[in-house]
Amino acid sequence: MNIKLNENFKMLGGGYLFSEIAARVAAYRAQNPSKRVISLGIGDVTRPLAPSVATEMSRAARKMSTRDGFVGYGDTQGTPELRSAISKRYEARGISLNQDEIFISDGAKSDLGNLFDILGDNEIVIFDPIYPVYIDSAIISGRKVRFLSANEENSFLPSPTFLPKKAFVIFLCSPNNPCGAIFTREGLGAWVDFALESGSLIIFDAAYESYIRDASLPHSIFEIKGAKKCAVEICSFSKMAGFTGVRCGWTVIPGELPIHSLWKRRQSTKFNGASIISQRGALACLSPLGVRENQGSINYYMENARLLADFIKEKGIFFVGGENAPYLWVKQPNKMGSWEFFHHVLHSSGIVITPGEGFGKSGCGFFRISAFASRKDVLEAIERLNAVL
Ligand code: PLP
Repeated sequence: MNIKLNENFKMLGGGYLFSEIAARVAAYRAQNPSKRVISLGIGDVTRPLAPSVATEMSRAARKMSTRDGFVGYGDTQGTPELRSAISKRYEARGISLNQDEIFISDGAKSDLGNLFDILGDNEIVIFDPIYPVYIDSAIISGRKVRFLSANEENSFLPSPTFLPKKAFVIFLCSPNNPCGAIFTREGLGAWVDFALESGSLIIFDAAYESYIRDASLPHSIFEIKGAKKCAVEICSFSKMAGFTGVRCGWTVIPGELPIHSLWKRRQSTKFNGASIISQRGALACLSPLGVRENQGSINYYMENARLLADFIKEKGIFFVGGENAPYLWVKQPNKMGSWEFFHHVLHSSGIVITPGEGFGKSGCGFFRISAFASRKDVLEAIERLNAVL
């Protein structure tokens, strides 16, 4: 074949982190068929859908089998009912959004990558360590990336203090994956101020906002004054309502940003809307019953996080997270390389963790534990890890 390929792919590191973990775990399973593997690694939800949400989706599917209830292509931007329910959710936090500023997606990951379609050749600012999708998407688009080390000194939340005053595209994630750290209003305010002064754009990933327990912490960047002039927000039903398989999320692009019309144009060309059945389910997630049922699962995961945090505290090992996020970022009790430590934990206990270095160089010496698991698995994992850590 003589066609030219996107050479940027050559710049990506090995495999995508979680595919790499899955491959290593599959190899371990093949060698140890009798060992029950417990995964506190990939960070996928484990609890079933809320009953009211599943009922609504099956009703929506049945309706599609009737002459009157069938619908084909819908509004690319999402159903008006779902966009209205999302804008009411923001209203409850004092944020006023026009429905046209809300774009329903098939989940946060697609939009995080697709936004590069409408952005020019800007330098990208990304924390290190971080959810790998930002970096990989920037590299695939051939962008230059400037990393800000998230470490013990800055409580895993770098500030813009040391950046030159020029226009960047800045990825922020709060509550943060992998560190579980979360911005205070002041911390996030510093980034909004920097973006306004420098003409930068912030892409704020709020995929874990429903895990915030401390009422003083911001759930949305639009709680910060001035953010509508410099930020977009990406959110998802994945972790909030167990939709990792169902697929539905949303992106807010304020109408006053020049990229609003570009995104609308991009979506109408390259996207035909999220599944109508997923959107009906998502709408049910925002009903009072749906919210209550999903809150039950969030509380369950956060109790797992508390049990894991208590265990690590008892061991006297340094960690952060687990209070307003379903992830714990734990210091390795030895000087092994990240993947070597991952291998050691897997082979000595059958527990899957995520190696810190998989999230970036500064993740070296740390590992991430996910609270997305059954209680039984968390308790057994604690027992098994007790012998390893
Ligand atoms: N953003 C962060 C920080 C995530 O951790 C994840 C998934 O783990 C996503 C986005 C992707 O979410 P979605 O399932 O909506 O694509």
